[in-house]
Amino acid sequence: MSAIRNIIHTLFPSTCICCGDILVGDESQICLSCLAHLPHTYFSQQPDNPAEMMLAGRIPFVSATAMLFYSHGNATQTIVHDMKFHGNSDLCVMMGTMLGIELLSSGRFDDVDLLLPVPLHWTRRISRGYNQSLLLCQGVQKNFHREISIGCLYRHRPTRKQSLQHQSQRASNVYGAFRVKNQTLLSGKHVLLIDDVMTTGATLTSCCDALRTVPDIKISIAVLSMVQ
Ligand SMILES: [Zn+2]
Repeated sequence: MSAIRNIIHTLFPSTCICCGDILVGDESQICLSCLAHLPHTYFSQQPDNPAEMMLAGRIPFVSATAMLFYSHGNATQTIVHDMKFHGNSDLCVMMGTMLGIELLSSGRFDDVDLLLPVPLHWTRRISRGYNQSLLLCQGVQKNFHREISIGCLYRHRPTRKQSLQHQSQRASNVYGAFRVKNQTLLSGKHVLLIDDVMTTGATLTSCCDALRTVPDIKISIAVLSMVQ
């Protein structure tokens, strides 16, 4: 979103966050025209989709998907920035709701037991006011009715923002950053790990390294967006 559009949307929240047009009727956050043109991947029904290919060999997952393509200057980038950096918590839930509808219709995620948000370190959560991945889960849950596991997977040390790291530094930035407590709550369960953006997959891989210590766990992945 351009700086001017951002200011307009902050002053007049009833404008579309993507194009700045005034919202009408039942429109909320994003106008119908921008919603219709979101860059959907249609990966959710595709085995061996590009999200799965990116994670193959690094994570022992059951299924993986990304709902939208993310690229510099596209609508997904505007949406994710609004979710993470402009305090738009309602947008996180709205996008999670769309993701939940997609997961439900896919059929490839039917035997998932629990939703697992990628955790923030508590210092980041306090400065942002919320964990966008948890709000995505709350949106997903509206249609894809599963419990959300909060606290079992946690980030035990703060990490630098992945978006500011060079690709080669991303894995080392998050290596060993996650841990699991109350393993019995996850043991034998099929968990669906949920995050907002997948760039190199380093954060998800690090989460899974921690989750793999849980006996008989199965892991699937759903991200709102994937960098093209
Ligand atoms: Zn619009």
